[in-house]
Amino acid sequence: AGYKGTVEVPVGLYIDGKWVNSVDKNAKTIPVVNPSTGEKLLDLPEGLEADVELAITAARKAFNEVWGLNTPGFKRGEVLIKVAELMERDADILASLEALDNGKTFGAAKGFDAAEAAACFRYYAGWADKVHGKVIEQSNDKLTFTRHEPVGVCGQIIPWNFPLLMFAWKLAPALASGCTIVIKPSELTPLTACYMTKILKEAGIPDGVVNVVNGYGPTVGNALSGSNTIDKVAFTGSTAVGRKVMESAAKSNLKKVTLELGGKGANIIFDDCNLDDAVRYAAQGIFFNHGQTCCAGSRIYVQRGIYDEFVKKFVQVTKKVQVGDPFAPDTFQGPQVSQTQYDRIMNYVECGKQEGANVITGGVRHGKTGFFIEPTVFTNVKPGMKIVEEEIFGPVVVVAVFDTEDEVIAAANDSIYGLASGVFSQNITKAHRVAARLHAGTVWVNCYNELHSQVPFGGFKSSGIGRELGEYAMENYTEIKAVHVRLTGYVG
Ligand code: NAD
Repeated sequence: AGYKGTVEVPVGLYIDGKWVNSVDKNAKTIPVVNPSTGEKLLDLPEGLEADVELAITAARKAFNEVWGLNTPGFKRGEVLIKVAELMERDADILASLEALDNGKTFGAAKGFDAAEAAACFRYYAGWADKVHGKVIEQSNDKLTFTRHEPVGVCGQIIPWNFPLLMFAWKLAPALASGCTIVIKPSELTPLTACYMTKILKEAGIPDGVVNVVNGYGPTVGNALSGSNTIDKVAFTGSTAVGRKVMESAAKSNLKKVTLELGGKGANIIFDDCNLDDAVRYAAQGIFFNHGQTCCAGSRIYVQRGIYDEFVKKFVQVTKKVQVGDPFAPDTFQGPQVSQTQYDRIMNYVECGKQEGANVITGGVRHGKTGFFIEPTVFTNVKPGMKIVEEEIFGPVVVVAVFDTEDEVIAAANDSIYGLASGVFSQNITKAHRVAARLHAGTVWVNCYNELHSQVPFGGFKSSGIGRELGEYAMENYTEIKAVHVRLTGYVG
């Protein structure tokens, strides 16, 4: 599987509609590695703070002169539809780049990442001409109304686990609202963002409206969150870095901040569920994208009556997860994204064993090259263990047993995170009641990992601030201005 032709990917910085290298002589290159082999794919030219400044200047000029309210909403929508169409035309290319760079399978990259990313642009195209305020009726001598104006220049920082999809989730609502953008892809997975610059240009996004600055977090990322001239920063990544982003936003110009951070999803399986469905969804909930999913169902809680049977079936399904070459058609799980992530996950596995949990399948490297890990299931886990509390971000799941609804709700909510949870039960009353009691931005009932452009996504507690997707994301990129017009003379 995969794209068979030859394609040019501009791997420099994309500033004011031009592909350039850093203006800073100290800029070096960043090795981009193929996680399936561990071999270097290319040296990516690095951007630095001076490049961020140039990109912000270009974005400001484009906001003031070209985009924003200079381009009517329906025109912005037309361009976004064109972006979606070109992404669909080039889906094989985008998916191949993603598989090469990130290690996810070509099938998932095409069927999920590229398809959902294009759908996201198409969805927000529809919002672009539906951004408007309200008239607030007060009295006959006054006209009061609100304007929903684009925030301005936005800095956006994205991670490596869904490079193309996160690019779309960030760009599409911001562009629909009329904002202009400086975006920093993850230094580990820059290729689809680089290719997207060609699509954005071809679709007719004017120069300066979207600028892509590749580079490291402490330089380029920090220059965005700490800028005094950017109006908003949107970040997806770890909770630790999210904290830094918020701090530099506070210390600079108090720009608006939205954060999509980590998670430790609790997946609750009641004994009145459809067991086979629950087993399959629970496996997909953790092993999809090799466990590198912020909303992964990494804590499975199973009611005592079905615990043994669930574990038996879950291990059978886990053992069938096909690990290997992302371009092979039958592969479900490719490599982890990097050596660092591989080591981090294996450290958690060791730690779980030392803390007394049992590995009932997996827990070891898969193959001899690349960063592959066998899907891993821990049982005999207890509250307080690191593998129960911390986000592992790999194909490692803990399975615990519970007796009562109250007990499992308390366990599920006993986390600093609150991104996503699952509930499996055929009892509709119980399923709704539990969904309402879970502290999470998303609750899936009798399913898992379902994401749609229309539906908001984001976290309670330390999983983030704000919501992406749906109508809600438009609010992240609009300022509300109240205008009071007195229709009589001076009123003392
Ligand atoms: P990360 O926080 O290390 O990096 C994310 C991005 O931030 C990268 O582009 C990185 O270069 C940049 N960065 C690093 N240091 C920075 C700094 N000091 N200032 C500004 N930017 C900086 O996270 P990661 O390892 O790339 O991604 C994995 C994490 O992301 C996981 O914890 C996962 O749960 C989380 N995540 C959350 C969501 C969500 O929607 N909630 C989605 C995907 C990933």
